[in-house]
Amino acid sequence: MKRGITRREREVTDMNEILGILDRAKVAHVGMVDGNMPYVVPLNYGYTMVDGALTLYMHGAPRGRKMDVLRANPNVFVQIDTDRLPFEGPSACQHGMCYSSIMCEGVAQLVEDVPGKIQGLKILMKTQTGKDFEFMDKMVGGVTVIKITVSDYTAKKRSLPKQG
Ligand SMILES: Cc1cc2nc3c(=O)[nH]c(=O)nc-3n(C[C@H](O)[C@H](O)[C@H](O)COP(=O)(O)OP(=O)(O)OC[C@H]3O[C@@H](n4cnc5c(N)ncnc54)[C@H](O)[C@@H]3O)c2cc1C
Repeated sequence: MKRGITRREREVTDMNEILGILDRAKVAHVGMVDGNMPYVVPLNYGYTMVDGALTLYMHGAPRGRKMDVLRANPNVFVQIDTDRLPFEGPSACQHGMCYSSIMCEGVAQLVEDVPGKIQGLKILMKTQTGKDFEFMDKMVGGVTVIKITVSDYTAKKRSLPKQG
């Protein structure tokens, strides 16, 4: 069930700001459900945003815990953040950290066909580097692409507090 952000004044709804966060952050923490325990893995990502629909792409070795977990249960919750800047004040309560953050939930699909992997890897590299890369079929044999279709996302930003 969708919940609203508790500190509504910090919610980010402007699409350009949301895209900026996705462009800058580079690393996603992907939360999965391993039986009845959470399992969270940091992964580099690429994204597309089409008419407000967000899709994330990650890659990794075909074997390992995250792939096993996703095969058993594809439901994920993803956290992404950037623009971290600590600030201080005279008291402990006036210390804090600026940030820009996105959280989303969705369903992961393991892409194992060559054209699908190449498409995902191109998107990943574009987000990571800003550049377009070409992939030949033989380059993608040892990799699995994770495609996350996001069903819901929210964005939040904490700015520097006003002086005084
Ligand atoms: C900033 C960052 C970016 C990364 N980007 C990618 C990426 O794009 N693609 C990719 O495949 N991997 C990436 N990694 C590595 C990733 O976090 C995992 O280590 C890797 O994907 C293997 O996951 P697994 O579940 O298959 O690990 P497995 O080796 O199968 O996990 C077995 C156990 O090893 C331990 N473990 C696994 N990973 C880590 C870890 N990172 N730190 C400490 N303990 C760990 C856990 O206890 C886990 O239960 C990145 C890591 C960081 C920190």
